[in-house]
Amino acid sequence: MDILIVVEHRDGQVASINFELAKAVEGKGEACFLVASKEAAPLLEQLKGYGVKKAIQVDHENLAHYDPNSLTSVVQKVVQEKGFSLVLAGHTSFGWDLMPKLAMALEGSISTNVISFAKDGDSWMVERPSFGEKLVSKERLKKSPYLLTVAPGAFPEAEKGEGDLEIESVTLDVAAPAWEFQGVESGSTGEDVNLEDAEIIVSGGRGLKEKEKFEEVIRPLAETLGAAIGASRPVVDDGWLPRAHQVGSSGKVVKPKLYMAIGISGQTQHIAGMKNSQCIVAINKDKEAPIFDYAHYGVVGDLFEIVPKLTEKIKELKG
Ligand SMILES: Cc1cc2nc3c(=O)[nH]c(=O)nc-3n(C[C@H](O)[C@H](O)[C@H](O)COP(=O)(O)OP(=O)(O)OC[C@H]3O[C@@H](n4cnc5c(N)ncnc54)[C@H](O)[C@@H]3O)c2cc1C
Repeated sequence: MDILIVVEHRDGQVASINFELAKAVEGKGEACFLVASKEAAPLLEQLKGYGVKKAIQVDHENLAHYDPNSLTSVVQKVVQEKGFSLVLAGHTSFGWDLMPKLAMALEGSISTNVISFAKDGDSWMVERPSFGEKLVSKERLKKSPYLLTVAPGAFPEAEKGEGDLEIESVTLDVAAPAWEFQGVESGSTGEDVNLEDAEIIVSGGRGLKEKEKFEEVIRPLAETLGAAIGASRPVVDDGWLPRAHQVGSSGKVVKPKLYMAIGISGQTQHIAGMKNSQCIVAINKDKEAPIFDYAHYGVVGDLFEIVPKLTEKIKELKG
C-alpha cells in the first residue's frame, strides 16, 4: 500500500475532511485509512463506501482522548512496519498538531496547506498557497516518507457509494499520556464551535464596531439560520469572541454551504479561510470592498439596517 490517511475524529464522529482526503487520493495509488481510537469499529462504519478500500484499526485504552505523543508513536509504527510512502491528514488543528511531530519522528519531508499533489518520479510535487495566499508555490518533496496536510475545501468530498472496507487490526503498545483527562471546555462562551463542519456560518468583522453590537446583530441572525458564528481576526483580537471562531489563514479554514461575511472587508488572510464556501454572501457599506470579488451575492449598505431586517424576514418565512 502507498498512501495512509490518518483519520481525524471527535466524539465518535469522523470529520468530513476524511472524505475530501478520500477524493484527493483517487488515482494516486492504493490508499488506506488509519483509525486509532479506544473503539475504532463505529468510526470504521462511517468510512465505508468512499472509494478507499482498506483500513487499519488500532484500538487501545490509551487512545481514548487525543494525545499527539501517543498518536505520533502509533502512526510512526504503522508507517514504518507497512512501508507507506505518503501520509495525509487535513490542514486542520488536528493535522497542524500531529503532522510536524510525525515528520520529525519519521525523518521524512512535509508540506502543509496543500491544494494539489501528484507523483513525479520518486518524489511528490505539491502546490500550496504562500505569502498570505498571494502566490501559489510549487514544491518537490524529496525525502520519503512524504507527509502532507491537505487544505479543507481543496478537494470535494468523495461521494458515498457501495463498497466495503477490508480491515486489518494491528495490536500496538501505546504508552499512557503524561496527563490525565479532566474534561473539555469549548471556549469561554461555553459554545461548541465546530466551524469546519458547519453548513452555515454567519461571520462578523470590525464593521460591527463593538462587542455588544456584534451580539445584537450577528447572534440573532445566526440563531435564526441555525448557523455557527465566525469572525475576522480583529473581532477575536479585541476579545469579542474566543479564538475558536476566527476564520482565516491564522484561524479556521471553512467550507460551508453558506458563508455570510458581514462588515468584513475581505483581506487575503480572511479570504484564505473561507474562499471555498459554496455560496458567499457579503454585506458591506463600501462597494469597493475586496470581499465583493469573492461573493456570489453582495449587498452594499449599512449592516445595522440590513441585518436586523433580514433576520426578521427569515423568521417570518420560517413561520
Ligand atoms: C500574519 C497575519 C495573519 C492574519 N490572519 C487573519 C485571519 O486568520 N483572519 C482574518 O480575518 N484576518 C487575519 N489577519 C488580518 C487581516 O489582514 C485583516 O486585518 C482583517 O481580516 C480585517 O478584518 P475586518 O475585515 O473585520 O476589518 P476591516 O478590514 O477593518 O473591515 C471592516 C469592514 O466593515 C465595513 N463596514 C464598516 N461599517 C459598516 C457598516 N455600518 N455596514 C456595513 N459595512 C461596514 C467596512 O467597509 C470594512 O470593509 C491576519 C493578518 C496578518 C498580518
